[in-house]
Amino acid sequence: MTVLLRASEVVKRYPAGRAGAVHAVNGVSLDVRAGETLGVVGESGCGKSTLGRCLVRLTDVTSGRVEFDGQDITALGARRLRPVRAGLQLIFQDPYASLNPRRRAGDIVAEPLKVHRQGSARAIRDRVAELFEVVGLSAAHLDRYPHEFSGGQRQRIGIARALATRPRLIVADEPVSALDVSVQAQVLNLFADLQDEFGLTYVFIAHDLGVVRHVSDRIAVMYLGEVVELADAEALYAAPAHPYTETLLSAVPEIDDGSDPAPRERIVLTGDVPNPSDRPAGCAFHPRCPYARDLCRTERPPLTEAAPGRLSACHFPLVGPRGSGG
Ligand code: ADP
Ligand code: MG
Repeated sequence: MTVLLRASEVVKRYPAGRAGAVHAVNGVSLDVRAGETLGVVGESGCGKSTLGRCLVRLTDVTSGRVEFDGQDITALGARRLRPVRAGLQLIFQDPYASLNPRRRAGDIVAEPLKVHRQGSARAIRDRVAELFEVVGLSAAHLDRYPHEFSGGQRQRIGIARALATRPRLIVADEPVSALDVSVQAQVLNLFADLQDEFGLTYVFIAHDLGVVRHVSDRIAVMYLGEVVELADAEALYAAPAHPYTETLLSAVPEIDDGSDPAPRERIVLTGDVPNPSDRPAGCAFHPRCPYARDLCRTERPPLTEAAPGRLSACHFPLVGPRGSGG
């Protein structure tokens, strides 16, 4: 198992009014293994997009470190960063907002090839036509503008643009959230096909556990800028270790395919939506946690192994030797 991308204690703060700060990402450490899909899940505002941008260095970290293929990319200057950038791409949530409406689709996909000076004008044209085919678009539509495509097709343009420089790792930030449900499955299938074809590694961001269930090998659950659970997808869906994961999971509509031995009880999150400039003491989740005890209010639980291969930042994880959460 090769680690392609490693984040160590990544912190990203944004300045906020009167010398305050938004702790968007608050000490995240994780490995992304070559060839896998790591799902990153959590409520809106928990820092998923900020983490994604730190991982591909679209934004600089406040502290901590990101290594790509063994190289520390945290502080690389522009010139040495350029070849790294080609290998690391980000796909955005909203395919419309992320595509320049005044540029033709073919030019949008060609842009990274020009930035990275990959070939002659002729070679770039051929490559763009090939990329259109790869993502299921017709090369006859190269000259169309973004508004002439459907939502799903626009996301395919975004995917083609991300693939242009032959990246090894793609961070996809809620790439199907803005699409109709009927189109979501097609785009998710495209992601899977491209992964097989090109040996891609994905960090796949989503705000609920439903979308990433079938695409993720492992899942990282974020709460208020921190990873609170990291586990193999199957194990996590079968039995969450962190109470927050349990609540997220209970919000996923159940598909009655006979695989669930007992219907899940729906747990409704109570308490205030977390505010990243005012982190609760102890475990950040304690004000909303149905199992919180005194320790949870005072001591921050580290991300540790709750069971083999299961990392959880909870004093009383729901799986493992200590068992059932209290
Ligand atoms: P998510 O993608 O999980 O919804 P984000 O990473 O977008 O979360 O945001 C995490 C927190 O950081 C939020 O409180 C958000 O308002 C804040 N934030 C994100 N980007 C900026 C920015 N450029 N400036 C200030 N605050 C930001
Ligand atoms: Mg986001």
